[in-house]
Amino acid sequence: MTKILADTSRCVGAGQCVLTDPDAFDQDEDEGLVIVLAPEPSDEAALERARRAALICPSQALSLAE
Ligand code: SF4
Repeated sequence: MTKILADTSRCVGAGQCVLTDPDAFDQDEDEGLVIVLAPEPSDEAALERARRAALICPSQALSLAE
């Protein structure tokens, strides 16, 4: 099972991940740091969105553990 990992020490709160997949990602109210709502993509489409979010993140805060 693939898992989405988020390194909040790298996150700069850019919100690109939330724009890419609002079902899987959110940002905290204070600093805008990423919150992973759905760490385990449930199907291939969700996995593809997670991959795209990891690619698009400007601070490489997201990774996938396969
Ligand atoms: S795209 Fe990256 S830097 Fe921006 S909120 Fe998401 S994890 Fe943080």
